Amino acid sequence: MAHLRAIVGEEGLLEDSSRAAPYECDGLAHERCRPEVVLLPRSTLEVSKCLALLHSHSIPVVPRGAGTGLTGGATPVEGGVLLGTARMRRVIEVNAKDRFARVEAGLVNIDLTRACCDEGLFYAPDPSSQAACSLGGNVANNSGGPHCFKHGNTTRHVIGLVIVMANGEVLDLSAPEVDPVGYDLVGLFVGSEGMFGIATEVTVRLTPTPEAIETLLGVFASLDDACDSVSAIIAGGWDASALEILDKLTIAAVEASVFAAGYPKDAEAVLLVEVEGSAVECHENAEGILAILADHGVLEVRRAQSERERQKLWAARKGAYGAMGRIAPDLYVSDVVVPRTKLREMVRATTDICTARGLKILNVFHAGDGNLHPNISYDRRDSDELRRVIEAGDEMARVCVEAGGTLSGEHGIGLEKLAQMKLYFSDEDLELMHTVRRAWDPSQNMNPGKLLPIRACMETRTRPVPVEASGRAGS
Ligand SMILES: Cc1cc2nc3c(=O)[nH]c(=O)nc-3n(C[C@H](O)[C@H](O)[C@H](O)COP(=O)(O)OP(=O)(O)OC[C@H]3O[C@@H](n4cnc5c(N)ncnc54)[C@H](O)[C@@H]3O)c2cc1C
Repeated sequence: MAHLRAIVGEEGLLEDSSRAAPYECDGLAHERCRPEVVLLPRSTLEVSKCLALLHSHSIPVVPRGAGTGLTGGATPVEGGVLLGTARMRRVIEVNAKDRFARVEAGLVNIDLTRACCDEGLFYAPDPSSQAACSLGGNVANNSGGPHCFKHGNTTRHVIGLVIVMANGEVLDLSAPEVDPVGYDLVGLFVGSEGMFGIATEVTVRLTPTPEAIETLLGVFASLDDACDSVSAIIAGGWDASALEILDKLTIAAVEASVFAAGYPKDAEAVLLVEVEGSAVECHENAEGILAILADHGVLEVRRAQSERERQKLWAARKGAYGAMGRIAPDLYVSDVVVPRTKLREMVRATTDICTARGLKILNVFHAGDGNLHPNISYDRRDSDELRRVIEAGDEMARVCVEAGGTLSGEHGIGLEKLAQMKLYFSDEDLELMHTVRRAWDPSQNMNPGKLLPIRACMETRTRPVPVEASGRAGS
């Protein structure tokens, strides 16, 4: 412990159990395990020294950004050390001419756009958690967000990384290249859920702020109509930058909260649409989309009349999970994906799965991506209710995969969908993923127990030397 303290300083090491308590889970709150030690280094060098030392004792390490993940990815289920990037939040460089920025991995997503907006640029991936989540966490989960429908998930924007490998070695892939020669290691690392190493610096592409933006709110008497209009907008070739649906219960939760934006409480669903580009493009796309909405029974369309109104509509959408905290103490957020043409059918199927189990489901989702977020408000202290929530999560994943969809649009697998991986991947697929993981981290001590349900080589893994006794505090 003294060696670790010497590396990160007094403030950078938390060993007292109560100080480590905030690190025992992420947004998947029913999976908890308090880390034995929390390390908060300040630089790549400190991360490297910590990992080298921990590696020499075969101690597992769980990387953590802001802990906003929804799948238990940053939960230290096998004990050991949790290494957080919260003290690494510098913007190292904004290069407006070449349109890229280099930042430390702990930087909060929204702070990157704040750092470059005066240059007429922004960072496009905008998870609804963007006021809290870190760029490093976004990289590890290949995160999305409402505007990733147009701009693409994180992987489309990351052009360089500095990575500290499990043994402490520093892999510098930070030079931004238009077309990298050789294997795309940056691309491979994005989405690796903390199992390949720790990203300490991230170089990202910046996007020019559009000349014009138009935001529309379509009000519907049925969730089916809202879903169908999304497929029709895309099939019609209209270029929306975001297509987000909120159902009636979500609207009620939002409108009762500090995020209230005047969404109509009697509507069965609203579709939040944004278009962007030149003023002419924007106008044409908005008009085309309005015609589609009219064909699909829209009751009313509201247009944001000012930037303030637009921001309010988005704050309500992005604050929806927070608003759901008013309904019950816990929230389970599923992240299944279906072909867009099956949106209506799958929203019904996931609703039926939850209601059959007596669970309260609220839908707010990235409809343009076919990325459903059936959210279940519940109380994890009620063990029977928790059991039904987990069962519903498994069942929703099964029906969506059977409908040609997949397990995750953006939240990753973590702990939550470990068992469900077998619904989608064969044993051969999983073994291949193990092989890739072992190439990055032969010790398999980086974020163990996540993503891969088979532990083909567990017998060869050295068990950690416990720093201090710890137990799994939740179920
Ligand atoms: C209210 C709310 C709304 C959300 N909305 C969205 C959304 O719209 N789109 C979306 O995609 N997600 C969303 N999320 C999920 C979550 O915010 C994202 O997954 C986010 O990228 C996690 O970032 P984080 O910094 O909190 O990472 P953490 O939760 O701390 O960690 C996530 C994973 O990344 C790993 N990790 C963290 N930092 C590093 C690093 N530097 N190097 C290597 N591995 C690392 C961890 O081990 C873990 O596996 C939402 C969450 C909440 C609570």
